[in-house]
Order: sequence, then structure tokens, then C-alpha cells
Amino acid sequence: MHLKSLTLKGFKSFASATTLKFEPGICAVVGPNGSGKSNVVDALAWVMGEGSAKTLRGGKMQDVIFAGAGDRKALGRAEVSLTIDNSDGALGIDYSEVSVTRRMFRDGASEYEINGAKARLMDIQELLSDSGIGREMHIIVGQGKLAEILESRPEDRRSYIEEAAGILKHRRRKEKAQRKLVGMQANLDRLEDLTEELGKQLKPLARQAEAAKRAATVQADLRDARLRIAGAKVVELRAKFEDSQQQAEMLAAQVEELSAQLEESSQRQAEVEAELAEVAPRTEAAQKLWFDLSTLSERISATQRIAAERASNAGAQVPYAG
Ligand code: ATP
Repeated sequence: MHLKSLTLKGFKSFASATTLKFEPGICAVVGPNGSGKSNVVDALAWVMGEGSAKTLRGGKMQDVIFAGAGDRKALGRAEVSLTIDNSDGALGIDYSEVSVTRRMFRDGASEYEINGAKARLMDIQELLSDSGIGREMHIIVGQGKLAEILESRPEDRRSYIEEAAGILKHRRRKEKAQRKLVGMQANLDRLEDLTEELGKQLKPLARQAEAAKRAATVQADLRDARLRIAGAKVVELRAKFEDSQQQAEMLAAQVEELSAQLEESSQRQAEVEAELAEVAPRTEAAQKLWFDLSTLSERISATQRIAAERASNAGAQVPYAG
């Protein structure tokens, strides 16, 4: 992995778009004092997410925007794009070339892009941290710093060398892992407390579980017994139903028989009534005849009595024929 190119537009002294191409190995930028060599280094730090204006040798972050020089007017924004060769896949992204862009406007708003797609500063830091060139992981040795390094004590020099060798990345990972371990230990302690607490609750819970098991068995027995009773009831009701059905059939047969008898009797009654209707005038006539004859008999008896009386009165005995 190496830096392929750096494009500056409106960044510090680079008013016009300027692209620097780098090859693997050492690259040198040569120029007179004040020509903007350090601005190139600042652009590198800035595009990788540098957040300190002081580190970029300014009072505030907007100072990186071209402020005008000679007859060229100040610009409204600064933009730097860094292209990194990723053919060895050092950056965890599926591109052989990765381009990171940072843009800043006069109102202080910053924009980031990864391969032309909008991104957050966090995304850029995450992308670069794996390769060891992220924030605080690359080493920029500015003017004057070299002397400081050369004159430093061996222990201080060791830290510079460690950082330059990329050990910082691993140290950060170690710190992160240690923080995680501390967190995990806390979780472990909590877990132990919980285990202890749960252990205390386990006995009553076991008793409850046993009771629940027994209750389940009793409930199953109860259900079974209820089913048996219901089954027996069904059998009984079915027998009763069959019995009732038989009785109903018998009654229906009786009703049918009685109906036939009733019909026969009705017919007989009608016949008798018809006979009666036929006999009634004769009965009436017989009654009338009997009445007439009775009246006549009474009259004859009366006449005989009168005759007998008269005969008696006349002295002659007339035998009674009544
Ligand atoms: P030296 O070798 O003396 O350190 P250098 O080549 O590193 O110089 P730089 O310090 O990178 O030069 O550049 C300084 C130049 O950049 C100055 O001329 C300064 O005016 C110009 N400069 C810095 N910031 C801006 C800006 N925002 N707008 C315009 N020009 C700027």
C-alpha cells in the first residue's frame, strides 16, 4: 500500500487544482522557502481527518481555505483528495484504489467522501485505522521536529520509533482489548452475583416445579376421569334414546291402530246414525200409534165403566171386559 496522488483545490496556497503523483518508496518535494511544501504535508494530515487548526499551523480551521494572494481573490472552499493504492487490500474495502476527499466551506462545514460517495469522518478514520495510517497512527515529522528527535533522550526516541513502526496501532488495539476485558470482568462479576442469587432461589423453585408437576398429573387424571364419566353418560343416554325410540315406535303403532279403530267406530257410528235416522220416523209413528191406542183403550175402559155403571143402575149385570 502506498499513496498514489494528492489533489489540492483551494487549499492554503494552492488556489488552482494541483495534483501531486507519488511512487512507492521515498518522494521528495523540492522548492524555495515559502513555496508551499509544508502545505502539502498539511493537506495530507487534513484529508485524513486532522481536527486541530493549530497542528495545521492556523488559528481556526477555515484558515486552510485559500485566502487570496496577489491578484487572485479568496475562495469559498478548500478541497483535498488523497488516492491510496489498495491493490494489496490493506484497507478493508473492496477497491484496488481508494480515494478519500475532504471539503470545507467558509461556514466551517466539512464534507467527506470515500470513492465519491458521501461519508462521515468516522468512516474515514475507521477505513484508515486498519492500515495504520489513521488519525494519530501516521507520523508527520515537521520542520524543526527532526532536530528534536535527533537530540531527544533514547526513551523518547524509542516512542517516536515505535509510532513510526506502526506499533501504536497495536497498542491502541491492546488498550481497546484491555478495556473490553475490564468490561467483561464486570459482566462476569455481575454474572457470579446473579448465579449466587439464582442458586438461592433454586430450592423454592424446585419445590414449586415439583408441585406444578404433581398438579399437572392430578389435572391429567381429572381430565381422564371426566372423559370416562362423559363417555359413560353418552353410552347411557344412547341406550335411553334407543329405548325411547322403541317406545315411540310402539306408541306410533298403537296410535295407528287406535286411529284405524276410531275410523272404524266413526264409520259404524255414521251407519248407526243413518239407521237411527231411518228408524226415527217409524218409532215416532209407533209411539203415536201406541199413544192413540192408549187413548182409545182409556176411552173404551171409561165407556165400559160408564156402561157398567148404567147397567148397574138399571139392574142388569154386564161383565167387565177391560
Ligand atoms: P518553508 O520552507 O519556509 O517552511 P514552505 O515551502 O514549507 O516554506 P509553506 O509554509 O508550506 O511553505 O507555505 C507558506 C505559504 O503558504 C505562505 O506564502 C503563505 O502565505 C501561504 N499560505 C498559507 N495559508 C494560506 C492561505 N489560506 N491562503 C493563501 N496562502 C496561504
